[in-house]
Amino acid sequence: MGRGESFSADLPDEQATQALGTHLAAALQGPLVVYLYGDLGTGKTTLVRAVLRALGYSGPVKSPTYTLVESYCCGGRQVYHFDLYRLADPEELEYMGARDYFGEGALCLVEWPERGTGFLPQPDVVVRLEYWGDGRRIRLEGLGQDGQAALAGADLPAKES
Ligand code: ADP
Ligand code: MG
Repeated sequence: MGRGESFSADLPDEQATQALGTHLAAALQGPLVVYLYGDLGTGKTTLVRAVLRALGYSGPVKSPTYTLVESYCCGGRQVYHFDLYRLADPEELEYMGARDYFGEGALCLVEWPERGTGFLPQPDVVVRLEYWGDGRRIRLEGLGQDGQAALAGADLPAKES
């Protein structure tokens, strides 16, 4: 399997992003840290919304652009959605008690992880979204034992070997 399970897929429209999120949710069992890289508008929040829906959360999902983190309870499971775009300094994560969020055994989905360098735990799964024609392209990588196991069992399109 090499250094990790990895997948990529074309996402021609928003529905494709949502469908991918639904499949990804099934793979994200247990406490995992997921980094979501990608420019503004590439669909990170769209993907997170689909994951939360698939995990059973039916309320509104707002982008945590100003709050930095939103908390969700999905069928007894704690999910934290971070958006670090507006983080001025990675150290702010310390002040907001981010360590506690990551230590809880929750599923943590982190947009703009590069803004939190040095103050975030290592990811189990890395998601990369990019503009691709009129649509988007996604790459997924499972790192370490937990991340690889999560993606190995996933029903995701276009598995790369
Ligand atoms: P981000 O969180 O990465 O800044 P958002 O999810 O907030 O991005 O916004 C993405 C925008 O792109 C939304 O308007 C959404 O409708 C659209 N979008 C999402 N996925 C796709 C796709 N695969 N193809 C085209 N448009 C998409
Ligand atoms: Mg976003």
